[in-house]
Amino acid sequence: MQKGNDCKDCSKRGGVTVKIPKSHPRAKSLEERHRLQLGIEKGIVTPTGMIAHGRGEAFDYLLGERTTPEAKKQIEAAAAKLLLARKPVITVNGNTTALCASGIAELAKELGAQVEVNLFYRTEKRARLIQKEFRKFGINALGADPKKFKKAPGLGGSKRKLMDSDGTWEADAVLVMLEDGDRTETLERMGKFIIAIDLNPMSRTSRKAGITIVDNVTRAVPLLEKAANRLKKSNKKGLSVIINNFKNKDLLHKSEMWIRRGMVK
Ligand code: ATP
Repeated sequence: MQKGNDCKDCSKRGGVTVKIPKSHPRAKSLEERHRLQLGIEKGIVTPTGMIAHGRGEAFDYLLGERTTPEAKKQIEAAAAKLLLARKPVITVNGNTTALCASGIAELAKELGAQVEVNLFYRTEKRARLIQKEFRKFGINALGADPKKFKKAPGLGGSKRKLMDSDGTWEADAVLVMLEDGDRTETLERMGKFIIAIDLNPMSRTSRKAGITIVDNVTRAVPLLEKAANRLKKSNKKGLSVIINNFKNKDLLHKSEMWIRRGMVK
């Protein structure tokens, strides 16, 4: 869960006291919903973001709301790839900002990566609000300056095509979260290596990415930061071995088996 002090006003919302006891069996899940609600109130999250989160929650429930052994391998490979990248970029949207901006900021610092705002329902105001949120954690997020935009080919009229000329446009590896398949495919076609965090191992993004982490962003992001910190001590050869031994399809299949059968077979 996000550190920082964004939830100081959580005790009273609309005259209703919201206090989630730590002992509540769904405490984490309820806290996440509450963070998204705050994100909506701040203008960072869109109502449809809630629906996307709901889809993720259902998969997370079936995964047992824990990081599976497969996800740990996916996280290790992702950290190795991001450390080897010439220019890694982490793209963020409203949900990921509301759920774990501070964790993403820590990860970006650990990797020396840039953070870039990319929105499905983009307004300049929303982009700037997200940028402001990251500033609280010492990150100057890209993707909010229209003068620096280049356009990704093949994304039609969607504003997701906007790429910061100093960010994703130049990147060789891009970490995406709660992403949609079209943009993942487009970035891949542009020669970028895509690392995705997505609770649905069957989504187009999960299948198109080079490395997919099937886990909740709220758990995966801090674990990715820890893995990057640990693997920083390895040399390039050691990192390449991790990536060469990594089999995305195989691990995606196993992640799907956890969801479908509650076991890996
Ligand atoms: P695709 O276009 O890749 O097939 P989609 O249309 O299902 O994907 P969206 O609705 O655009 O995707 O994005 C939401 C995706 O993010 C879903 O796959 C959902 O499971 C996942 N998701 C939602 N919340 C989280 C979360 N907290 N952590 C990780 N993944 C999440």
